[in-house]
Amino acid sequence: MSVLVFIDHIDGHIKKASLEAASYGAQLAAQSGTSAEAIVLGNPEGLSDLGKYGITKVHQVQDGSLAAIDAQVYAKIIAAAAEQTGANVIVFSNNSSGKAIAPRVSVRLKAGLVSGATALPEAGGAFTVRKNVFSGKAFAQVSVKTERKVIALNPNAFAIAEKGGTAEVVPFSATVDAPRIKVTGSTKTSGKVALTEADVVVSAGRGLKGPENWKMVEELADVLGAALACSRPVADAHWRPHNEHVGQTGVAIAPNLYIAIGISGAIQHLAGVNRSKTIVVINKDPEAPFFKAADYGIVGDAFEVVPKMLEAVRKVKG
Ligand code: FAD
Repeated sequence: MSVLVFIDHIDGHIKKASLEAASYGAQLAAQSGTSAEAIVLGNPEGLSDLGKYGITKVHQVQDGSLAAIDAQVYAKIIAAAAEQTGANVIVFSNNSSGKAIAPRVSVRLKAGLVSGATALPEAGGAFTVRKNVFSGKAFAQVSVKTERKVIALNPNAFAIAEKGGTAEVVPFSATVDAPRIKVTGSTKTSGKVALTEADVVVSAGRGLKGPENWKMVEELADVLGAALACSRPVADAHWRPHNEHVGQTGVAIAPNLYIAIGISGAIQHLAGVNRSKTIVVINKDPEAPFFKAADYGIVGDAFEVVPKMLEAVRKVKG
């Protein structure tokens, strides 16, 4: 089984989610004694370092018009690369680019698609993959019957495995269609760390009473190197920008650590954060539903707890 992994990048850096996809692709290829290759559109740093994650060869397309992701243009190139390399499994991260491109590639290749995969296929027999359903509340086992398969791997569901090695980087010549979208400008959204890529997320809700009280939340995120998030009512009230809103109708995240301050833990909020590895809840109401989903709970007033937490973290960090 030959595997092709799509490498996504931003600001010249390969995204962590793509390193997970590379590790997944390499382990999938190893299951059947083959190797995994990758396709990248653009010129991020560290392409040959993908060898560390088990990628043997990187096919690189360089064309100025590819700077902004146009899913239709990208899908055509990636499908062509799959045809030319003879790949029968194409792996994406199920991040925003993967969600836009993977289904289009699967249609082009007449390949079955598993979006939101969380594990390698079961060994032997049918190609059966576990995926998240109902906003992470349940799993489904999906068998893919088509000869070619497309997998979109949930971010932070599969550990990055480093083992050393260097990938060969070769140019891939592709017909690059004129993009159908034109990016006329871009603005960096709030927060220093991108929410979907963050290892640690500090999030706050209506319990903070008003936007003027976010300074301590921003400071905590800052010392922890975390991204900022919020509940939906906070974004609806314009206390925080909408791109920070997490949940069923907002961004779905799966950081290693999610700290929720003054958030009740409604199911619609949990739907977007319950894949976090460790959840810490700070709430003054001991009956707040969020405590049921928490790994660590602090019953207390955020205006007392967060400054103490900040002081403690600063002390530890020196
Ligand atoms: P509240 O429910 O008002 O909770 C505030 C919490 O802060 C309380 O638990 C309170 O005990 C605590 N608190 C108060 N003061 C303090 C203090 N000083 N210190 C510590 N704790 C304190 N919500 C989302 O977040 N994301 C979504 O994507 C989303 N999608 C939705 C989709 C639909 C269709 C619907 C109907 C709703 C959706 N909601 C979503 C809204 C959701 O149902 C809740 O209303 C919302 O999550 C509540 O936000 P909150 O926890 O910030 O506020």
